[in-house]
Amino acid sequence: MRFACGSKLRLDPEMYFKISALEPTSPALCKMRRLRDLRDTQRIVIELAGESLPARRHRQLHVFHAGDLHQRIFSPRSAVGNGGDTLATCSGSMKTILITGGTRGIGRATALLCAGKGWPVALNYARDAVAAEQAVREVHAAGGNAVACQGDIAVEADVVSVFDAAESRFGRLDGVVINAGIVAPSLPLADMDSARLRRMFEVNVYGAYLCARESARRLSKDRGGSGGAVVLVSSAASRLGSPFEYVDYAGSKAALDALTIGLAKELGQQGVRVNAVRPGLIETDIHASGGQPDRAKRLGATTPMGRAGRPEEVAAAIVWLLSDDASYTTGAILDVSGGR
Ligand code: NAP
Repeated sequence: MRFACGSKLRLDPEMYFKISALEPTSPALCKMRRLRDLRDTQRIVIELAGESLPARRHRQLHVFHAGDLHQRIFSPRSAVGNGGDTLATCSGSMKTILITGGTRGIGRATALLCAGKGWPVALNYARDAVAAEQAVREVHAAGGNAVACQGDIAVEADVVSVFDAAESRFGRLDGVVINAGIVAPSLPLADMDSARLRRMFEVNVYGAYLCARESARRLSKDRGGSGGAVVLVSSAASRLGSPFEYVDYAGSKAALDALTIGLAKELGQQGVRVNAVRPGLIETDIHASGGQPDRAKRLGATTPMGRAGRPEEVAAAIVWLLSDDASYTTGAILDVSGGR
């Protein structure tokens, strides 16, 4: 069954796409291949809620594009009749995104913005299953597609299984936001014990490096990937040092700045862009976890813009770096800190 470019698409929250078979077809689909890394043609089998339709009921859907940055994938419903039961338009290339720490704060705001663009998201979290369920519900309510993936990024096996789960749910990954991070109560370095220092660097540095390594392994074209974008969430602390508060945290984020620069150079020829954002004082729960729930508001008033930032303001920068609008941006570290 064929559909023209004008047909429409709605991404059903319970739906994901799997490319299941290949066969020769029209030249139009060759361009599609650049976006989706397909062969000359494709048969797209739609799987609903994780269950394949019986083989004889598989719809062969021919996918057309309205330009390099547009793609159309059609649901089984749009295959009924003359394709009249079409849904909403998805413009811009659809991307599948994994966000570590995607269930609260900046990660959650990023997930919702991705959902608004029609990008399916895998939301990693460590412990708070209630917040994870809530974030998935919110993405679905916004018309998006999300799956929660529990795993501690400081544990290598967890990182691998989170990436595996995201890939198996969505078929592939186009973007990774390495966002999960922690702070600890404010102290001068002289008073920090080794358990705190170890955990800070295990999560913020070792965990982020593991996630970056998995991204490099799975997205790099030389390794069978299709390219993509990685965004690391650093912090303005990396250039401020955070004296008497958390120089450990500041140092952990400085490592991410260096990782961004180095990995962008390693993956420049692999179709993978690597960038970072450095948020300033953003109103999220992280400050309460460091014992200062009012920190963002209090210190935000002292910044050049006179206020703390909102998670959505950081998310907008992250999503831009993930998008094709940032196609020539790599190795960049973008301050989103109200001038701080
Ligand atoms: P947040 O509100 O505390 O949310 C943290 C998220 O990370 C949660 O989803 C949490 O999952 C997850 N997480 C924590 N440790 C994890 C681990 N070991 N493995 C997997 N997931 C883990 O934090 P946020 O303020 O949004 O911060 C997000 C990132 O921005 C962090 O890297 C932070 O350093 C950076 N940042 C924040 C600010 C700010 O002012 N908020 C400023 C600069 C930089 P659970 O819910 O399961 O705990």
